[in-house]
Amino acid sequence: MIHGWYTRLATLVSLSIAIILCMLSPIYHNPYCVHDLRMIPFVLGIIYGGPYTGLALLAVLLVSRMMIYSWSMVAFVIYVMIYLLTIIGMKWFDFNRLSSRKKIIFSVILFTIHSIVAAFIAKAMTVFVIDESYLINFILLPSLGMLILTYICETLLKQIQIKQALVKIEKMEVLAQLAASISHEVKNPLTVIKGFLRLLRQENLPVGKKEQYLTIASSELNRAEDIINDYLTFAKPDPDQVENISISEQLNKLTEMVEPLSNQQSVLVQKDIEDANIVGNTRNFQQAFLNIIKNAIESMPKGGTLIILSKVQKGSVSITISDTGVGMTPLQRARLGEPYFSTKEKGTGLGLMVSYRIIEAMKGVITVDSRVGKGTSFQIVFPVECIKDPSSL
Ligand code: ADP
Ligand code: MG
Repeated sequence: MIHGWYTRLATLVSLSIAIILCMLSPIYHNPYCVHDLRMIPFVLGIIYGGPYTGLALLAVLLVSRMMIYSWSMVAFVIYVMIYLLTIIGMKWFDFNRLSSRKKIIFSVILFTIHSIVAAFIAKAMTVFVIDESYLINFILLPSLGMLILTYICETLLKQIQIKQALVKIEKMEVLAQLAASISHEVKNPLTVIKGFLRLLRQENLPVGKKEQYLTIASSELNRAEDIINDYLTFAKPDPDQVENISISEQLNKLTEMVEPLSNQQSVLVQKDIEDANIVGNTRNFQQAFLNIIKNAIESMPKGGTLIILSKVQKGSVSITISDTGVGMTPLQRARLGEPYFSTKEKGTGLGLMVSYRIIEAMKGVITVDSRVGKGTSFQIVFPVECIKDPSSL
């Protein structure tokens, strides 16, 4: 069964077109009997689209039948009967729980029964002859067509299910790896804290030393907290609270945050910032850009220039973070955002993965340009948006 209103709508529209096209290309059996294959898309629609899609298709069928030919009581009785028989048959056999093979067998048998019953209704209500060629052209061949189509539908649906299952497994695997690395990463600061707490137990400890130990322990606690927060963003990337983010305010804040690091590595920071509003979670935004800016600074161990630009274009704002650092090979560039990809001795290879995830969740598009020995430039383009009344969220 198909889920989601847009897929249902797409199913309805495409099958309606198929029904109308079938009617426009009829098969002449004899001068008294004009027939076509409209029943195939109709029954497929009921089976895979559900009762409501089926009902809408029934309406399409009746209206188009009337417009192309004329009102016919026989056609009305046959379509309604087919609709009801299909729904009852699906309920009776609990269609959605059947295996693919049984679904195909069910559809074909049901369709054959429909064709036979329809022929008998037509015979009972009008002058209608069921002969051998009718049996072949309008009962056997359409049933064969139904067999092929349900087979194709089932194969496609199975493919989609396999793909969804794979994505889920992949995500679970990454999460499992992340859980392992969190415990590994958090263990280091915890060991340090433990050591200092043990030192604090000593009697006659000078006040100065005590203060020093406490400061180190608390900074290590902050580090552990940061690590956990970082990784939790990946496990739960959907921002809780969405608000208007001022690009200039946040980029300026970020520059201030990394100032100690850039000073330490004699990195000159240049800014040229145009303001714009985008919508997202401020903390996530800061984290995503902090990772990118930190990488840029880290790529210039012997100093260099970090350029932070933002430019407002029509409906979008582009943020560029460029460095004059070591750069990347095309192969390295292609691996950006992959978990655990790091060329640094003490790198986690998780920073950019988190950034990419956050930026993608905020509808941002990332482009990276890099040359070995020359530097790297990250360009991120966001749609300019603004929530009028943040309290309405
Ligand atoms: P980490 O910084 O822990 O290594 P990241 O996910 O932040 O992990 O980055 C992954 C890798 O991408 C880095 O190890 C580095 O090789 C490469 N990289 C990212 N940004 C830059 C940059 N600005 N210049 C050069 N290499 C970069
Ligand atoms: Mg990093």
